[in-house]
Amino acid sequence: MARKFNFSAGPAMLPTAVMQRAQQEMLDWNGSGMSVMEMSHRGKEYMSIATKAEQDLRAVMDIPDNYKVLFLQGGASSQFAMIPLNLLGGKQSADYINTGIWSKKAIAEAKRYCNVNIVADTSHSGFTTVPTQAELNLNPDAAYVHYTPNETIGGVEFDYIPETGDVPLVADMSSTILSRPIDVSRFGLIYAGAQKNIGPAGLAIVIIREDLLGQAPESTPAMFNYKTHADGGSMYNTPATYSWYMAGLVFAWIREQGGLAAMGERNKRKADKLYAVIDQSELYANPVAANARSWMNVTFTLADPDLDAAFLAGAAEHDLITLKGHRSVGGMRASIYNAMPEEGVDALVAWMQEFERHRG
Ligand SMILES: *Cc1c(COP(=O)(O)O)cnc(C)c1O
Repeated sequence: MARKFNFSAGPAMLPTAVMQRAQQEMLDWNGSGMSVMEMSHRGKEYMSIATKAEQDLRAVMDIPDNYKVLFLQGGASSQFAMIPLNLLGGKQSADYINTGIWSKKAIAEAKRYCNVNIVADTSHSGFTTVPTQAELNLNPDAAYVHYTPNETIGGVEFDYIPETGDVPLVADMSSTILSRPIDVSRFGLIYAGAQKNIGPAGLAIVIIREDLLGQAPESTPAMFNYKTHADGGSMYNTPATYSWYMAGLVFAWIREQGGLAAMGERNKRKADKLYAVIDQSELYANPVAANARSWMNVTFTLADPDLDAAFLAGAAEHDLITLKGHRSVGGMRASIYNAMPEEGVDALVAWMQEFERHRG
Protein backbone atom coordinates (compact mmCIF):
# COMPACT_ATOMS: atom_id res chain seq x y z
CA MET A 1 0.00 0.00 0.00
CA ALA A 2 1.42 3.39 -0.97
CA ARG A 3 -0.58 6.34 0.25
CA LYS A 4 0.76 9.68 -0.86
CA PHE A 5 0.51 12.95 1.01
CA ASN A 6 -2.38 14.54 -0.87
CA PHE A 7 -2.70 18.29 -0.35
CA SER A 8 -5.94 18.56 -2.33
CA ALA A 9 -8.33 21.30 -1.21
CA GLY A 10 -11.27 18.95 -1.65
CA PRO A 11 -12.19 16.19 -1.95
CA ALA A 12 -9.32 15.79 0.44
CA MET A 13 -7.46 13.09 2.34
CA LEU A 14 -9.34 11.01 4.86
CA PRO A 15 -7.63 9.47 7.89
CA THR A 16 -6.03 6.15 6.95
CA ALA A 17 -7.46 4.50 10.07
CA VAL A 18 -10.96 5.50 8.93
CA MET A 19 -10.38 4.11 5.44
CA GLN A 20 -9.11 0.83 6.90
CA ARG A 21 -12.13 0.51 9.16
CA ALA A 22 -14.43 1.13 6.19
CA GLN A 23 -12.50 -1.46 4.21
CA GLN A 24 -12.93 -4.05 6.96
CA GLU A 25 -16.64 -3.34 7.13
CA MET A 26 -17.15 -3.01 3.38
CA LEU A 27 -18.81 -6.34 2.64
CA ASP A 28 -20.32 -7.12 6.01
CA TRP A 29 -21.12 -4.37 8.46
CA ASN A 30 -21.11 -5.66 12.02
CA GLY A 31 -22.38 -9.14 11.17
CA SER A 32 -25.36 -7.80 9.24
CA GLY A 33 -24.25 -9.54 6.04
CA MET A 34 -24.68 -6.25 4.18
CA SER A 35 -22.52 -3.38 3.12
CA VAL A 36 -23.60 -0.03 4.57
CA MET A 37 -24.21 0.96 0.96
CA GLU A 38 -26.84 -1.77 0.63
CA MET A 39 -28.82 -1.00 3.77
CA SER A 40 -32.25 0.53 3.99
CA HIS A 41 -31.82 3.97 5.51
CA ARG A 42 -34.79 3.20 7.76
CA GLY A 43 -33.55 -0.20 8.93
CA LYS A 44 -32.31 -0.63 12.48
CA GLU A 45 -28.69 -1.19 11.40
CA TYR A 46 -28.48 2.04 9.46
CA MET A 47 -30.46 3.99 12.05
CA SER A 48 -27.85 3.00 14.65
CA ILE A 49 -25.05 4.22 12.35
CA ALA A 50 -26.82 7.53 11.65
CA THR A 51 -27.65 8.16 15.30
CA LYS A 52 -24.13 7.39 16.48
CA ALA A 53 -22.66 9.76 13.86
CA GLU A 54 -24.85 12.60 15.06
CA GLN A 55 -24.09 11.85 18.72
CA ASP A 56 -20.36 11.83 18.03
CA LEU A 57 -20.54 15.12 16.12
CA ARG A 58 -22.55 16.68 18.95
CA ALA A 59 -19.97 15.49 21.46
CA VAL A 60 -16.99 16.59 19.37
CA MET A 61 -18.35 20.10 18.68
CA ASP A 62 -20.20 20.39 21.99
CA ILE A 63 -23.39 21.32 20.13
CA PRO A 64 -26.07 22.70 22.46
CA ASP A 65 -29.42 20.87 22.68
CA ASN A 66 -31.33 23.72 21.03
CA TYR A 67 -29.57 23.09 17.73
CA LYS A 68 -30.56 20.55 15.07
CA VAL A 69 -27.94 18.74 13.05
CA LEU A 70 -28.99 18.02 9.45
CA PHE A 71 -27.26 15.62 7.04
CA LEU A 72 -28.15 16.95 3.59
CA GLN A 73 -27.16 16.58 -0.04
CA GLY A 74 -26.38 19.26 -2.61
CA GLY A 75 -23.06 20.33 -1.13
CA ALA A 76 -22.31 23.63 0.50
CA SER A 77 -23.38 25.37 -2.69
CA SER A 78 -27.05 24.46 -2.19
CA GLN A 79 -26.88 26.23 1.14
CA PHE A 80 -26.09 29.49 -0.62
CA ALA A 81 -29.76 29.46 -1.75
CA MET A 82 -31.33 27.55 1.15
CA ILE A 83 -30.09 30.13 3.66
CA PRO A 84 -31.99 33.12 2.22
CA LEU A 85 -34.97 30.90 1.38
CA ASN A 86 -35.22 29.76 4.98
CA LEU A 87 -33.94 32.63 7.07
CA LEU A 88 -35.34 35.81 5.55
CA GLY A 89 -38.57 35.34 7.48
CA GLY A 90 -40.31 38.18 5.68
CA LYS A 91 -37.35 40.58 5.93
CA GLN A 92 -35.99 42.25 2.81
CA SER A 93 -32.25 42.28 3.41
CA ALA A 94 -29.34 40.27 4.72
CA ASP A 95 -25.79 41.30 5.61
CA TYR A 96 -22.85 39.61 3.87
CA ILE A 97 -19.12 39.93 4.51
CA ASN A 98 -17.07 39.57 1.33
CA THR A 99 -13.62 38.05 1.87
CA GLY A 100 -13.13 36.14 -1.37
CA ILE A 101 -14.41 33.73 -3.95
CA TRP A 102 -16.68 31.63 -1.76
CA SER A 103 -18.19 34.73 -0.14
CA LYS A 104 -18.93 36.06 -3.61
CA LYS A 105 -20.71 32.88 -4.64
CA ALA A 106 -22.89 33.02 -1.54
CA ILE A 107 -23.64 36.69 -2.24
CA ALA A 108 -24.56 36.08 -5.88
CA GLU A 109 -27.06 33.41 -4.88
CA ALA A 110 -28.60 35.47 -2.06
CA LYS A 111 -29.19 38.33 -4.50
CA ARG A 112 -31.88 36.22 -6.14
CA TYR A 113 -33.91 36.47 -2.94
CA CYS A 114 -33.14 39.70 -1.13
CA ASN A 115 -31.20 42.92 -0.92
CA VAL A 116 -27.66 41.94 -0.08
CA ASN A 117 -25.94 44.48 2.10
CA ILE A 118 -22.16 44.08 1.85
CA VAL A 119 -21.08 45.02 5.36
CA ALA A 120 -17.35 44.64 4.71
CA ASP A 121 -15.33 43.89 1.60
CA THR A 122 -11.62 43.13 1.55
CA SER A 123 -11.17 43.28 -2.23
CA HIS A 124 -9.05 46.43 -1.68
CA SER A 125 -6.36 44.19 -0.14
CA GLY A 126 -6.71 41.60 -2.91
CA PHE A 127 -8.55 39.43 -0.36
CA THR A 128 -5.50 39.02 1.86
CA THR A 129 -7.06 40.39 5.04
CA VAL A 130 -10.14 40.00 7.20
CA PRO A 131 -12.16 43.00 8.36
CA THR A 132 -12.03 43.92 12.03
CA GLN A 133 -15.20 43.89 14.10
CA ALA A 134 -15.20 47.72 14.03
CA GLU A 135 -15.15 47.68 10.24
CA LEU A 136 -18.36 45.65 10.00
CA ASN A 137 -21.13 47.98 8.96
CA LEU A 138 -23.91 45.83 10.39
CA ASN A 139 -27.60 46.53 9.90
CA PRO A 140 -29.58 45.72 13.08
CA ASP A 141 -32.65 44.91 10.93
CA ALA A 142 -30.87 42.37 8.72
CA ALA A 143 -32.40 38.89 8.62
CA TYR A 144 -28.94 37.42 9.26
CA VAL A 145 -25.21 38.04 8.78
CA HIS A 146 -23.34 35.64 6.50
CA TYR A 147 -19.58 35.14 6.37
CA THR A 148 -16.96 32.64 5.28
CA PRO A 149 -14.67 31.95 8.26
CA ASN A 150 -12.09 30.32 5.99
CA GLU A 151 -11.70 31.23 2.33
CA THR A 152 -10.40 27.98 0.89
CA ILE A 153 -8.95 29.49 -2.27
CA GLY A 154 -7.26 32.58 -0.88
CA GLY A 155 -6.13 30.88 2.32
CA VAL A 156 -7.65 33.64 4.46
CA GLU A 157 -9.21 32.87 7.82
CA PHE A 158 -11.00 34.96 10.45
CA ASP A 159 -9.19 34.99 13.78
CA TYR A 160 -12.38 35.93 15.64
CA ILE A 161 -16.12 35.28 15.51
CA PRO A 162 -18.05 38.41 14.49
CA GLU A 163 -20.39 39.81 17.15
CA THR A 164 -23.80 40.41 15.57
CA GLY A 165 -26.06 41.08 18.55
CA ASP A 166 -29.54 39.65 18.04
CA VAL A 167 -29.04 39.10 14.32
CA PRO A 168 -28.28 35.41 13.62
CA LEU A 169 -24.75 34.73 12.42
CA VAL A 170 -24.44 32.26 9.52
CA ALA A 171 -21.08 30.67 8.69
CA ASP A 172 -19.85 28.68 5.70
CA MET A 173 -17.41 26.46 7.57
CA SER A 174 -16.78 24.08 4.67
CA SER A 175 -13.01 24.24 4.99
CA THR A 176 -12.55 24.95 8.70
CA ILE A 177 -15.20 22.95 10.57
CA LEU A 178 -13.63 20.50 13.06
CA SER A 179 -10.22 22.16 12.75
CA ARG A 180 -10.33 23.46 16.35
CA PRO A 181 -12.88 24.06 19.13
CA ILE A 182 -15.55 26.67 18.37
CA ASP A 183 -18.43 28.03 20.42
CA VAL A 184 -21.47 26.84 18.44
CA SER A 185 -23.80 28.99 20.57
CA ARG A 186 -22.42 32.10 18.86
CA PHE A 187 -24.01 31.01 15.57
CA GLY A 188 -27.52 30.83 14.19
CA LEU A 189 -26.47 28.43 11.47
CA ILE A 190 -23.25 26.64 10.53
CA TYR A 191 -22.91 24.71 7.29
CA ALA A 192 -20.18 22.74 5.58
CA GLY A 193 -19.71 20.52 2.57
CA ALA A 194 -18.24 17.24 3.80
CA GLN A 195 -15.40 16.67 1.37
CA LYS A 196 -12.80 18.80 3.13
CA ASN A 197 -12.75 18.00 6.81
CA ILE A 198 -15.70 15.66 7.37
CA GLY A 199 -15.85 12.78 4.92
CA PRO A 200 -16.57 11.92 1.28
CA ALA A 201 -18.39 14.27 -1.07
CA GLY A 202 -22.16 14.00 -1.35
CA LEU A 203 -22.99 15.24 2.12
CA ALA A 204 -23.43 18.67 3.65
CA ILE A 205 -23.86 19.27 7.36
CA VAL A 206 -26.12 22.03 8.66
CA ILE A 207 -26.21 22.94 12.34
CA ILE A 208 -29.17 25.24 12.92
CA ARG A 209 -30.64 26.87 16.03
CA GLU A 210 -34.17 25.56 16.44
CA ASP A 211 -35.88 28.96 16.59
CA LEU A 212 -34.70 29.63 13.02
CA LEU A 213 -36.70 26.71 11.64
CA GLY A 214 -40.14 27.12 10.12
CA GLN A 215 -39.71 30.58 8.59
CA ALA A 216 -39.58 29.51 4.94
CA PRO A 217 -42.43 30.77 2.76
CA GLU A 218 -45.22 28.37 1.82
CA SER A 219 -43.92 28.19 -1.76
CA THR A 220 -40.60 26.67 -0.65
CA PRO A 221 -40.08 23.18 -2.08
CA ALA A 222 -40.08 20.58 0.69
CA MET A 223 -36.53 19.49 -0.10
CA PHE A 224 -35.27 23.07 0.29
CA ASN A 225 -36.96 23.68 3.61
CA TYR A 226 -34.79 23.02 6.68
CA LYS A 227 -37.89 22.16 8.68
CA THR A 228 -38.61 19.19 6.42
CA HIS A 229 -35.22 17.72 7.23
CA ALA A 230 -35.27 18.68 10.89
CA ASP A 231 -38.69 17.05 11.36
CA GLY A 232 -37.67 13.99 9.38
CA GLY A 233 -34.31 13.39 11.07
CA SER A 234 -32.66 14.07 7.68
CA MET A 235 -34.57 11.07 6.31
CA TYR A 236 -37.42 12.78 4.48
CA ASN A 237 -35.91 11.13 1.43
CA THR A 238 -32.93 8.82 1.04
CA PRO A 239 -29.89 10.57 2.50
CA ALA A 240 -26.30 10.07 1.29
CA THR A 241 -26.07 6.97 3.45
CA TYR A 242 -22.49 5.94 2.80
CA SER A 243 -21.08 9.47 3.14
CA TRP A 244 -22.99 9.85 6.41
CA TYR A 245 -21.50 6.57 7.67
CA MET A 246 -17.99 7.65 6.67
CA ALA A 247 -18.51 11.02 8.37
CA GLY A 248 -19.48 9.08 11.49
CA LEU A 249 -16.21 7.14 11.36
CA VAL A 250 -14.33 10.45 11.06
CA PHE A 251 -16.18 11.93 14.07
CA ALA A 252 -15.32 8.83 16.12
CA TRP A 253 -11.69 9.10 14.97
CA ILE A 254 -11.56 12.73 16.12
CA ARG A 255 -12.85 11.69 19.54
CA GLU A 256 -10.17 8.99 19.77
CA GLN A 257 -7.51 11.54 18.82
CA GLY A 258 -8.46 13.76 21.76
CA GLY A 259 -11.22 15.85 20.21
CA LEU A 260 -11.07 19.30 18.71
CA ALA A 261 -8.62 20.65 21.29
CA ALA A 262 -6.06 18.09 20.12
CA MET A 263 -6.95 18.74 16.47
CA GLY A 264 -6.49 22.47 16.99
CA GLU A 265 -3.06 22.11 18.59
CA ARG A 266 -1.88 19.82 15.82
CA ASN A 267 -3.36 21.98 13.07
CA LYS A 268 -1.77 25.12 14.43
CA ARG A 269 1.60 23.38 14.64
CA LYS A 270 1.26 22.14 11.05
CA ALA A 271 0.36 25.58 9.69
CA ASP A 272 3.07 27.33 11.74
CA LYS A 273 5.73 25.04 10.27
CA LEU A 274 4.75 25.93 6.70
CA TYR A 275 4.43 29.68 7.28
CA ALA A 276 7.81 29.65 9.06
CA VAL A 277 9.51 28.14 6.00
CA ILE A 278 7.77 30.63 3.73
CA ASP A 279 8.70 33.61 5.86
CA GLN A 280 12.34 32.58 6.25
CA SER A 281 12.71 32.05 2.53
CA GLU A 282 13.76 34.26 -0.35
CA LEU A 283 11.97 32.01 -2.83
CA TYR A 284 8.52 31.50 -1.31
CA ALA A 285 6.00 34.16 -0.37
CA ASN A 286 2.53 34.34 1.14
CA PRO A 287 0.67 37.66 0.87
CA VAL A 288 -1.91 37.06 3.59
CA ALA A 289 -1.88 39.30 6.68
CA ALA A 290 -0.36 37.46 9.64
CA ASN A 291 -3.59 37.47 11.67
CA ALA A 292 -5.63 36.17 8.72
CA ARG A 293 -3.52 33.22 7.65
CA SER A 294 -5.48 30.04 7.24
CA TRP A 295 -4.61 26.96 9.29
CA MET A 296 -6.17 24.75 6.65
CA ASN A 297 -5.17 26.14 3.24
CA VAL A 298 -1.63 27.49 3.07
CA THR A 299 -1.03 29.34 -0.19
CA PHE A 300 2.39 30.37 -1.48
CA THR A 301 3.99 31.59 -4.66
CA LEU A 302 7.49 31.07 -5.98
CA ALA A 303 9.48 34.21 -6.78
CA ASP A 304 9.81 32.97 -10.36
CA PRO A 305 6.63 31.27 -11.68
CA ASP A 306 8.79 29.51 -14.26
CA LEU A 307 9.98 27.31 -11.38
CA ASP A 308 6.45 26.14 -10.55
CA ALA A 309 6.53 23.10 -12.84
CA ALA A 310 9.88 21.88 -11.48
CA PHE A 311 8.70 22.42 -7.91
CA LEU A 312 5.55 20.38 -8.51
CA ALA A 313 7.35 17.60 -10.39
CA GLY A 314 9.94 17.22 -7.65
CA ALA A 315 7.23 17.29 -5.00
CA ALA A 316 5.42 14.46 -6.77
CA GLU A 317 8.64 12.40 -6.70
CA HIS A 318 8.54 12.80 -2.93
CA ASP A 319 4.89 11.61 -2.89
CA LEU A 320 3.63 15.15 -2.22
CA ILE A 321 0.73 15.67 -4.61
CA THR A 322 -2.00 18.15 -5.57
CA LEU A 323 -0.06 21.23 -4.52
CA LYS A 324 -0.94 23.39 -7.51
CA GLY A 325 -2.80 26.52 -6.42
CA HIS A 326 -6.27 27.45 -7.61
CA ARG A 327 -6.20 28.84 -11.15
CA SER A 328 -7.52 32.21 -9.92
CA VAL A 329 -4.61 32.65 -7.47
CA GLY A 330 -1.75 30.73 -9.09
CA GLY A 331 1.28 29.44 -7.21
CA MET A 332 0.82 26.64 -4.71
CA ARG A 333 -1.74 25.66 -2.12
CA ALA A 334 -1.15 23.10 0.58
CA SER A 335 -4.45 22.07 2.12
CA ILE A 336 -3.69 20.52 5.48
CA TYR A 337 -6.98 19.41 6.95
CA ASN A 338 -7.23 17.11 9.98
CA ALA A 339 -6.39 13.99 7.97
CA MET A 340 -3.05 15.34 6.74
CA PRO A 341 -0.52 13.76 9.09
CA GLU A 342 2.16 15.94 10.59
CA GLU A 343 4.72 13.81 8.71
CA GLY A 344 3.15 15.02 5.47
CA VAL A 345 3.78 18.63 6.46
CA ASP A 346 7.32 17.76 7.58
CA ALA A 347 7.96 16.11 4.22
CA LEU A 348 6.67 19.18 2.39
CA VAL A 349 8.83 21.48 4.52
CA ALA A 350 11.89 19.33 3.73
CA TRP A 351 11.11 19.43 0.00
CA MET A 352 10.58 23.20 0.02
CA GLN A 353 13.93 23.72 1.73
CA GLU A 354 15.72 21.29 -0.58
CA PHE A 355 14.22 22.94 -3.66
CA GLU A 356 15.22 26.38 -2.48
CA ARG A 357 18.81 25.26 -1.84
CA HIS A 358 19.16 23.87 -5.33
CA ARG A 359 16.95 26.07 -7.48
CA GLY A 360 16.03 29.15 -5.48
C1 LIG B 1 -15.58 23.84 -1.19
C2 LIG B 1 -16.33 24.98 -0.65
C3 LIG B 1 -17.66 25.25 -1.04
C4 LIG B 1 -18.39 24.43 -2.08
O1 LIG B 1 -18.70 23.18 -1.62
P1 LIG B 1 -19.59 22.17 -2.50
O2 LIG B 1 -19.89 21.11 -1.50
O3 LIG B 1 -18.74 21.73 -3.64
O4 LIG B 1 -20.81 22.88 -2.96
C5 LIG B 1 -18.30 26.32 -0.45
N1 LIG B 1 -17.69 27.10 0.44
C6 LIG B 1 -16.41 26.88 0.84
C7 LIG B 1 -15.79 27.78 1.85
C8 LIG B 1 -15.70 25.83 0.29
O5 LIG B 1 -14.43 25.60 0.68
